[in-house]
Amino acid sequence: MTLDLEQELRARGALLDGHFRLSSGRHSDRFIQKFRVLEDPKLVEPVARAIADAFRDAHPTVVMSAAVGGIVLGYEVARALGVKAIFAEKEGGVPVLRRGFQLTAADRVLVAEDVITTGGSVEEVMRVARTAGATIAGVGAIVRRGEAEFGVPTVALLEMPIVSYEERDCPQCRRGAPVDDPGSRRS
Ligand SMILES: [Zn+2]
Repeated sequence: MTLDLEQELRARGALLDGHFRLSSGRHSDRFIQKFRVLEDPKLVEPVARAIADAFRDAHPTVVMSAAVGGIVLGYEVARALGVKAIFAEKEGGVPVLRRGFQLTAADRVLVAEDVITTGGSVEEVMRVARTAGATIAGVGAIVRRGEAEFGVPTVALLEMPIVSYEERDCPQCRRGAPVDDPGSRRS
């Protein structure tokens, strides 16, 4: 793939440099607005194709993701592989398959995730798939921001380990730089 993903992310405002309060409460000098990628089919298509190509030989029978952001990516990866796309969503706080989505013991699930941070939502999707009796063929992501490992083949198109600080240890706070709260922004 000739796609320079980091450059594409930067050009679209998906990769922001600054002083950010993350949803964990920790401060970081970098933030990823994943919907600046997911909103653009012209970028999602080649990104999804690269993920699909990485797993073609594993012969996934279905692509599965977590609502909401993962649905867009999962659908496009599934299109590239010629298989179905399904997603897990929460019901009473517990991730499940709804809408008549079905998995069987014959299914080999490729989990598609936009940005892996702690890996929590990938693990939830894997649990739902395994509970239904399916096998996990792998995990494909656009960006991996941490050390998350899932015990299955995992491919991230961009490895970008997160650097974050407790507020009291944050170098930018020490310099008095105003902090941005991108997660709470309505835009
Ligand atoms: Zn700070």
